[in-house]
Amino acid sequence: MTKGELKDLVEKEGVKFVRLQVTDINGMLKNVEIPVARLEESLSEGTMFDGSSIEGFARIDESDMLLKPDMDTFTVLPWTVEKGKVARFICDILTPEGNHFEGDPRYVLKKVINQLNEYGYEGYCGPEPEFFLLPRDEKSNPVLELVDDGGYFDLLPIDLGEETRKYIVEAFGDMRINVEASHHEVAPSQHEIDFEYDKLLRTADNIQTFKLVVKTVALLRGLHATFMPKPFANINGSGMHTHLSLFNNGENIFYDKNAERELSDELKYFIGGIIKHIKAITAIANPTINSYKRLVPGFEAPTNIAWSVSNRSALIRVPSTRGKGTRAELRSPDPTANPYLLLAVVFASGLEGIKNKIVPEEPVIENIYKLNEKEKVHRGIDNLPDSLEKSILALKEDKFIQQVLGKHIIRSFIAIKEQEILEYKTQVTDWEIKKYLKYF
Ligand code: GLN
Ligand code: MG
Ligand code: MG
Ligand code: MG
Repeated sequence: MTKGELKDLVEKEGVKFVRLQVTDINGMLKNVEIPVARLEESLSEGTMFDGSSIEGFARIDESDMLLKPDMDTFTVLPWTVEKGKVARFICDILTPEGNHFEGDPRYVLKKVINQLNEYGYEGYCGPEPEFFLLPRDEKSNPVLELVDDGGYFDLLPIDLGEETRKYIVEAFGDMRINVEASHHEVAPSQHEIDFEYDKLLRTADNIQTFKLVVKTVALLRGLHATFMPKPFANINGSGMHTHLSLFNNGENIFYDKNAERELSDELKYFIGGIIKHIKAITAIANPTINSYKRLVPGFEAPTNIAWSVSNRSALIRVPSTRGKGTRAELRSPDPTANPYLLLAVVFASGLEGIKNKIVPEEPVIENIYKLNEKEKVHRGIDNLPDSLEKSILALKEDKFIQQVLGKHIIRSFIAIKEQEILEYKTQVTDWEIKKYLKYF
């Protein structure tokens, strides 16, 4: 879109305010609002903001930053339509000198996209974020209760959750984000909305927009939407499977009609690269203490480092679609991951796999949950890190992933996460009280 076209559109839509959005290192969407009269200036010069007040961005002495709206991300926020329209842009973060800010997660992804492009590749991703819809009490706080007792693909009864999902999908339509499918998930009160696969930057932007839309629409309908990976101990958690593919001149390079299973060597190397770095990737894909409560056996979330051509117990599954739709589904990420950093480390690792022809172990056919430890060792199947502490340790040992993220991000990310781990370690949980107080 050109500046002129954008100006016309803003005028035609009758936009009153503009929100400039960025994502912090924790994957949180932040924004400042400017009156529409300041948009022109923002588009040409950027809008000044204080980077030190955003988690992991900048130290107090280097805090002046510029928000530079990405014109392609213009959209009206549909829930503001009746009360004076608000539009939003997703922004890049620049230093006062006009350079890209090293601590901007979106810039980290852009650098990886450039590397892919240098090899003639264009990366694509289709995510499947899951979430719970919970009731709120009279003070508007979320309550840990289920609002329906639906299950996978359930249709009836039409309940509050079901109806809310419909409104969410509608809001997406208004924002011209194409939803591929939406359904009730396995757990009660749990939903999934899959959007169409797209280029990497667009997909990461879409994931951030998605979370905002889901939370806002839920709020307006008296509910709370949570992307917390495991809110209920004994039922499925919420993941965010990511479907990954690489194209070259419009051809999907993961497809090879003459190869075994019609899967190309590039796909295998791509998987080999991801598997090689998966322990460090896990720190980014599963960045909270709670993320690891989801990665346990028995709840359709992966716990082992293996790939398969159909089995859903594996970390990476290659769905049966061939041709243009040939792809690898990485099943470990959850929606608390910063999508820019996630796609950056995953695609950089995959590219590294292709460059170095990293061959993964053979795909597993059977249900991995049912293999015993000896069988797993025999077949070279390792476990995913089972705590944030372990994945952060792996990140500290993986020079390649560190270099993808860059010094600034890696330093802040590790500092933030080590603080979180320490905080958690000093807690005494309800479980411990129940387990020990009476008996010891
Ligand atoms: N909720 C499961 C997870 O934690 C996935 C369930 C599914 O999509 N089949 O990954
Ligand atoms: Mg799904
Ligand atoms: Mg699902
Ligand atoms: Mg899936």
